Amino acid sequence: MQLHQTQSLVLKTTSYRDKDLVVHFLTKEFGKKTGIFYGARSQRSAYRSMSEPFSLLGIEFSEKENADMITIRSADLLESHVDLRKNYHHFLLASYFTELVHISLIPDPESEAYFELLENALNHLPSKKDITAHKIEFELKLLHLLGVYPQLEHCVICSKPVFQEAPVKTELNPKKNRLYQIDISHGGVRCETCFSSNSQSILINPGSLMFLNRWSQTLRNFNSLEIRPTRQNLAEINPLIQESFKLHLPRQPKASSLLEKALDGVG
Ligand SMILES: [Zn+2]
Repeated sequence: MQLHQTQSLVLKTTSYRDKDLVVHFLTKEFGKKTGIFYGARSQRSAYRSMSEPFSLLGIEFSEKENADMITIRSADLLESHVDLRKNYHHFLLASYFTELVHISLIPDPESEAYFELLENALNHLPSKKDITAHKIEFELKLLHLLGVYPQLEHCVICSKPVFQEAPVKTELNPKKNRLYQIDISHGGVRCETCFSSNSQSILINPGSLMFLNRWSQTLRNFNSLEIRPTRQNLAEINPLIQESFKLHLPRQPKASSLLEKALDGVG
């Protein structure tokens, strides 16, 4: 049997029998894997600290064909991310990121991109002052990796270019900007002609469309972007992200509602 060595992040841990823990990993090269740390529930076990979520490990494992679990031959703790457990908001956000990755369907060959997304997000979290911006950045990057980032440049119904048009101000209400409609079930923006009363569509202002579009271009070009979302961006884009997760993830992250409550009122 072939031995593999890889870095892996602990996504979730559950008790198993009296003394053992089942650990779900995201490996850097081999996709998501599940293995058992034998004796890890005992106080003296070195595996105990390695089983904490967010831990970065170096592991050596073997795997039988079609087996549900890998056999862990050895493991080293590379980074415990202990700082993330000291701040309630950081802990909730790290739990949310980790759970999102845990429930996402990740093809093994695409493992590394998701691994880097999560590892970077966890590494940078303690230094982030604006954690709602950090949250939206992670969510948009995840939608991009999952291949379900909303399509913004052309109308999803008639393919007409949408973004290039100057927003029209109506004569009756000159102060009111035109709103754009994002149709999650169709995967993107609807032009004015294709506006629908479909309740699944979400209305956003031109500023939020611009914000999403800049992120879209940045993600496609593998660049990094330093634009801070405004409060209005956050308020408009968050429902859109949550609807996308509802549609594209097998279940909703449990950490989500607790996090929303905690972030309520945090700027
Ligand atoms: Zn259209």
